[in-house]
Amino acid sequence: MPSRTILILGGGIGGLVAANELRRLLSREHRVVVVEKNTDHAFAPSFLWLMTGDRRPEEISRDVQQLVRKGVELLHGEALGIDLAAHRVETPAGSVTYDFLVVALGAELAPESIPGLAESAQMFYTFDGAAKLHNVLRDFSGGKIAIVVAALPFKCPAAPYEGAMLIADLFQRRGLRDKVDLHLFTPEPLPMPVAGPELGNAVRKAVEDRGIAFHPLQKLTEVNPATRKISFEGKESFTYDLLIAVPPHRSPRVVREAGLANQAGWVPVDSATLATRDENVYAIGDVTAIPLPGRWKPDVPLMLPKAGVFAHAQALVVARRIADRIAGKAARDKFSGEGYCMLEAGEHLAGFASGQFLAEPSPQIKLRQIGRSWHLGKVLFEKWWLAAPGVKKETLRLLIELGGKALRVPAAIG
Ligand SMILES: Cc1cc2nc3c(=O)[nH]c(=O)nc-3n(C[C@H](O)[C@H](O)[C@H](O)COP(=O)(O)OP(=O)(O)OC[C@H]3O[C@@H](n4cnc5c(N)ncnc54)[C@H](O)[C@@H]3O)c2cc1C
Repeated sequence: MPSRTILILGGGIGGLVAANELRRLLSREHRVVVVEKNTDHAFAPSFLWLMTGDRRPEEISRDVQQLVRKGVELLHGEALGIDLAAHRVETPAGSVTYDFLVVALGAELAPESIPGLAESAQMFYTFDGAAKLHNVLRDFSGGKIAIVVAALPFKCPAAPYEGAMLIADLFQRRGLRDKVDLHLFTPEPLPMPVAGPELGNAVRKAVEDRGIAFHPLQKLTEVNPATRKISFEGKESFTYDLLIAVPPHRSPRVVREAGLANQAGWVPVDSATLATRDENVYAIGDVTAIPLPGRWKPDVPLMLPKAGVFAHAQALVVARRIADRIAGKAARDKFSGEGYCMLEAGEHLAGFASGQFLAEPSPQIKLRQIGRSWHLGKVLFEKWWLAAPGVKKETLRLLIELGGKALRVPAAIG
């Protein structure tokens, strides 16, 4: 069998899972190469705990090399250009040719696309931002906090709501809750609209029960750092003491320049196989655009949320399909659209939303009652994710699968 090179762009959630699964499935004559611009990988769901001081920076990040199986070639550097016709990717260390390409480059943040936002807002959507916001919150003794989702789409539809509830809990723990006026603004009609009105209203209630004012359908247009005023399209402006934003997202430049993206800037893929228009090029995770059955406004189609749980599941599907194709077998694995999310609510409690996102006529998602077990599940998952491949990781996987069975929830993590 001729030797093949599978090139994976991005060593985040999707890229790491794809690389490790391919290395597990393929014999050593085939190369599995990952191009990743950062030397360290930080686990994004834990940024919220970094913000609240429940984690230290070193507890939630690892050298990327520690997270890949032996035999995965890690190329540290930025993917600068993708030549689809020549099957070649340019990196600072030279060009790499591929037989199969997996684009797992995620979404990048573009705070500069809204006037005044970059210079005024704190954020918990990056490792550095969450660490800095921890210090800002520690020194904050009272006033109005505005948490603003600047634009759609954004990754992890639950994160702004979790962030708001954890900040409320933080001030509660410090005995300052009555001095802090918390507001959450979003362009969405209700939390996590893709999951339907029942779940959205339950999350809205959880937020409002914690004294957080919820402002839906607010499209941020501008921030004035001098007057601390945020403006919204056709709505009243708001004056804040502390502004925390989920900045606008966009796909990495290299993806847009390669001609892989649609008009909105995301990569359209087959929802079952994750193949792009080019049959040897797959895209997974946040960089993709996958329409779902149903609409959240008459003219706006639902899209699969940008979430690690999907990047992970899609990576397994793509790795298995590529391995089958290399072995000359029919590729059978398909992305099912099943997903779940542990929604942190403070006080070491979390909710659990899960279901079928590709269900007809619209996604079928259920929210389980808030409890301690979902929070513990999230902690266990974090430990599993950050463990190096080996015995400890296997043990944690078994524990998660046992817990999942006991609670009758999906917990297959591959
Ligand atoms: C605060 C927060 C909380 C979250 N909580 C959850 C949660 O509870 N559950 C959940 O399912 N999801 C959660 N998410 C979302 C989840 O982190 C993302 O959906 C997931 O990381 C997407 O995986 P990905 O592989 O597509 O992209 P990423 O994990 O972002 O990986 C992309 C990688 O590509 C690299 N890269 C980018 N451009 C280049 C380039 N040109 N060259 C080389 N490398 C490049 C990046 O450095 C990065 O390592 C959360 C996100 C945030 C911010």
